[in-house]
Amino acid sequence: MSKKILVWFRNDLRLHDNEMLVEAIAKSDAVLPVYILDARLFEKTKYDTQKTGSIRAKFIIESVESLRNSLKQIGGNLLIAKGNPEEIIPQLVQEYEITEVYHHREVAMEETHISSLVENALWKLRVNLKHFIGHTLYNKEDLPFPIKDIPDAFNQFKKKIERDSIIKPCFAAPDRINVAEVIDWGNIFALEDVNLEPHEKDQRSDFEFIGGEQEGIQHLHKVINAMQQAATSKNLILASKLSAWLAMGCLSPRKVYWEIKKMESVPNAKAMFNHVLLGLLWRDYFRFMFKKYGNVFFKPNGFGSQGLVDQDNQQENFNKWRTGQTGFAVVDAVMNELNQTGYISNIARQTAALYLINNLEVSWVYGAAYFEERLIDYNPASNWGNWANIAGVGNDQKSKSIFDLDKNIKNLDPKGNYAITWAS
Ligand SMILES: Cc1cc2nc3c(=O)[nH]c(=O)nc-3n(C[C@H](O)[C@H](O)[C@H](O)COP(=O)(O)OP(=O)(O)OC[C@H]3O[C@@H](n4cnc5c(N)ncnc54)[C@H](O)[C@@H]3O)c2cc1C
Repeated sequence: MSKKILVWFRNDLRLHDNEMLVEAIAKSDAVLPVYILDARLFEKTKYDTQKTGSIRAKFIIESVESLRNSLKQIGGNLLIAKGNPEEIIPQLVQEYEITEVYHHREVAMEETHISSLVENALWKLRVNLKHFIGHTLYNKEDLPFPIKDIPDAFNQFKKKIERDSIIKPCFAAPDRINVAEVIDWGNIFALEDVNLEPHEKDQRSDFEFIGGEQEGIQHLHKVINAMQQAATSKNLILASKLSAWLAMGCLSPRKVYWEIKKMESVPNAKAMFNHVLLGLLWRDYFRFMFKKYGNVFFKPNGFGSQGLVDQDNQQENFNKWRTGQTGFAVVDAVMNELNQTGYISNIARQTAALYLINNLEVSWVYGAAYFEERLIDYNPASNWGNWANIAGVGNDQKSKSIFDLDKNIKNLDPKGNYAITWAS
């Protein structure tokens, strides 16, 4: 019997640096690349928010379409289905006589729960679900210590991982794929399929996030060029805006690292290289912490005890905050920018979070749930991990003391222009 491997794409929508795809091509006679639109990703939450809003949904659709086009260019295609992976994958396994299923391991509870359901369903068919690691800069398997021994304090984590581990080279993108014979590859879905309305681009934003591997790589090259030019001036570029492509796996963190590393030798560019690298390390850190501690990060008291919550006014205060109507100009501007574009800077995220938690006395989990709906670059570990840290309930208990709302506001909006631009 010929060997057919189903490759289940989730948040890894790329050909480059994709070990699971490379191995599937090498070890099979035919590959069945599959993307499943799972309606659970678009459900309402208990915080009266939606798991995915229209700005990120559009980015996901573009990324899936781009992956399909890339696969077509190397002789393949992408099967697109709608439903629950734990039902669809076993059906496809039977229909196409699949011998093994590959996917990338996730870390947050809803995603890993779905993987377990798929694994159990496949078990009944005596088909193996093989897990790959592909979301981090450092590979968990290459760490010289088990996950349980990874330090909880970020600075120690950074020191230890940089000293004791290596960043591997990227896997080359395949230039040929032999896919299973499929009559109907399925249509790309649209926003209406998940009951969402298109969101019009806001003219105040000079940046457009378009989903997909090609767009991600293009943006990476643009950023590096801009950073190299900026190195000759004093205005260093610190925010790369790579996060949305990293979150959907259109770019691998290793690809970003090896490309950005070229700047290390450019005079004055090292600070920018270090800044992006630091961000990638924070990203890895939260993923490893999720792996270490599981769903504690989603609990209001997390690893400590959350501060005062004004239960009587919580819902009203939360509504004012999310609609940019707190009356505090910078915070309202941050929320307006988030609502209109799906992207705000790190310092803006911290500002909005600090205000919600400390000034409005709303439980931080409401804020995290709202960011989950709105952020174009949402990923569970980075979002809930950062929120928990700001709320002082993260596993690195020292981190709370480093946040300072007044200082943030001075940095974010020193002359008041930001608040004017995003006043509504
Ligand atoms: C309350 C809060 C919620 C957040 N939610 C998310 C989220 O859902 N998804 C997300 O990608 N980032 C999140 N961040 C982290 C950070 O704000 C964004 O990654 C960053 O602003 C993206 O802009 P950039 O690509 O220009 O980052 P850069 O500064 O250029 O950094 C390079 C990359 O490193 C990663 N990174 C940088 N800072 C962090 C950080 N503190 N934590 C984790 N990763 C980091 C991102 O992938 C980023 O693209 C959150 C931060 C806060 C304070």
